[in-house]
Amino acid sequence: MRFILYLSFLLWKFLSLRFTDFNFVAALLEGIEASNYETATPVQEQVIPPVLSGKDVIASAQTGTGKTAAFLLPVMNQLLLHPVTDSVGTLILVPTRELAIQISQHVEGLSYFTNLSSIAIYGGSDAQNFVAEKKALQLGADIVVCTPGRLIAHLNMGYVNFKQLKFLVLDEADRMLDMGFQDDINKILAHLPANRQSLLFSATMPEKIRVLARKILKDPVEINIAISKPPEKIIQK
Ligand code: AMP
Repeated sequence: MRFILYLSFLLWKFLSLRFTDFNFVAALLEGIEASNYETATPVQEQVIPPVLSGKDVIASAQTGTGKTAAFLLPVMNQLLLHPVTDSVGTLILVPTRELAIQISQHVEGLSYFTNLSSIAIYGGSDAQNFVAEKKALQLGADIVVCTPGRLIAHLNMGYVNFKQLKFLVLDEADRMLDMGFQDDINKILAHLPANRQSLLFSATMPEKIRVLARKILKDPVEINIAISKPPEKIIQK
């Protein structure tokens, strides 16, 4: 039994894509190696190639599947190849400050050997943070991870610069809608250039997500990563 398990593990390792297969720039590969990522997870195997080739993507994938690196890596690679100056390059919208901080930590780890700049912007932080956020939104940052409400506060003051925005990412889109961010998302969309690449990630795909996707995405590649179920013998209460 153990031997069969070991064999299947070897087979999985052999069949999985290595990050060197994606042709990422060297400094990004260093960050991937330093993060101890060896082979791509299924969501990464499916999301990275279409994003690198310029396609919009809608993916149903839960936390724990490696979805964050699935969108960060190709976005970071393209920003390194085609740098954005004097504007926000990528806007990642998330429902909570916890997720904003978590994604921002991923960005810092993966971009450690690059010169990409990033900032997490979320509600409830102090006046000093507001000044740093304003500076990044006005003068430009490669990656801005943001909760919708806080971004609206900055947008209302008129200095946010999305002129050269290349990527919009909506992460945990179903949670954002459940938390009532639909109007804020609509307001934010009105400030973004139409000529951009958009990626939408959601654990579930109810009709309201499909409606949002039709509004945001152009001819998207659709990716479904099987939702992992608990073992059948465990009774959930
Ligand atoms: P996520 O689903 O993005 O929240 O990622 C879940 C965890 O998997 C995080 O701790 C990541 O650092 C880790 N992770 C993501 N991609 C890989 C990979 N290719 N190999 C190993 N760990 C990974």
